[in-house]
Amino acid sequence: MKSIDTKCVQAGYNPKNGEPRVLPIYQSTTFSYDTPEEMGDLFDLKKAGYFYTRLGNPTLGALEDKITALEGGSGAMACASGMAATTLAVFTVAQAGDNIISLSTIYGGTYNLFKITLPKLGIDCRFVRPDCTAEDIESLIDGNTKLIFVETFANPAMYVADFALLSKVAKKHKLLLVVDNTLATPVICRPFEHGANIVVHSSTKYLDGHACSLGGLIVDGGNFDYKDNARYAGFNLPDESYHGMVYARDCGAVAFITKARVQYMREMGAQMAPMNGFLTNMGIETLHLRMARHSENALAVAKLLRDSNAVEWVKYSGLDTDENHALAMKYFDNGYCSGMVTFGIKGGRAAASKFQKALRLLRIVTHIADARSCVLHPASSTHRQLSDRDLFDCGISDNLIRLSLGIEGKEDILEDVAGALNESQRS
Ligand code: PLP
Repeated sequence: MKSIDTKCVQAGYNPKNGEPRVLPIYQSTTFSYDTPEEMGDLFDLKKAGYFYTRLGNPTLGALEDKITALEGGSGAMACASGMAATTLAVFTVAQAGDNIISLSTIYGGTYNLFKITLPKLGIDCRFVRPDCTAEDIESLIDGNTKLIFVETFANPAMYVADFALLSKVAKKHKLLLVVDNTLATPVICRPFEHGANIVVHSSTKYLDGHACSLGGLIVDGGNFDYKDNARYAGFNLPDESYHGMVYARDCGAVAFITKARVQYMREMGAQMAPMNGFLTNMGIETLHLRMARHSENALAVAKLLRDSNAVEWVKYSGLDTDENHALAMKYFDNGYCSGMVTFGIKGGRAAASKFQKALRLLRIVTHIADARSCVLHPASSTHRQLSDRDLFDCGISDNLIRLSLGIEGKEDILEDVAGALNESQRS
């Protein structure tokens, strides 16, 4: 399978003669075997197979194979949510005494995890702004630094990752580059092609695409050499929690995802439910069609906003006037820039409130990236716990409104947004 469109529809599940054409939901916690030896071999990872859904399940296995094919990786693991995926990805390499480096313009939940919760567990996070130089990042790297984290494009600040700069620094210091590819999806961008080593997703967003199932995915790029790399002792020493396995020696291109699964998923248990795996797999079957439409609708709305007197600024990398346009054209396929647009409304928080109340088709929801268009004012919702300084670091101002454009008819969306803009400026 070469085409990304075909992979969306068909990768991951290939029924044998007489088996169901549609991926079945294996709603079973456990799997039965004829002999204890077979069960033992599964535990020892001598044979591939399923024995307990916390460690793997055939429905989830098909989804994992699909995302692996789409991203161009070596293996994947389904998790209960995007937050679980990011947390387990960090735990796979970092422990108390270690540190990670992250772009500051990331999703608010991830920012809180890195800024507040991980430090409580002894993992320090060092933030850099998106306009940082290679030297800025390098000044933060020491012997205990375990990864650099970035979103392909930031939610909601909309900065596009400068993969060339980040991967150059990561390679020079033999450090993992971990990319949250939630908002671009592999239909628009495949970070492994640009130097990333690990990709994480909140599949809750475009992959599911219908706002009906929480989920997360970790994808291993299989392109990082942990062997004898002093930073990654956990990959080179026997794992006492898993029969003395040495991941760098025993697991080849799937060292990261095997460690994530048998060490952290096994012990922390944040597995995706099989039903959610089924829904996510079905969502991805139309991902290529939806991303085209999301991008088309978002570009039309971004142009309307750019021309409106009620708007101070617009951020959408698809606009040729946008500061991130060149990076988007370098890394994104077909000129698609996804369905997220942010803008600053004239009149601050009060106008933001009027604008949201006046919308009819776009609804106020704490969600993005599904088939239905929606709106949110991050400073008073998802990011309301953050201080003014933190808001600034995340690239959020108090007049920033985030739109997630769905796949409805363009003319209806434009009419709704234009009407609400007019309403927002009435006294
Ligand atoms: N990453 C990004 C870019 C997100 O936008 C979100 C949620 O909005 C997450 C991760 C967290 O995902 P989840 O809500 O599935 O835990």
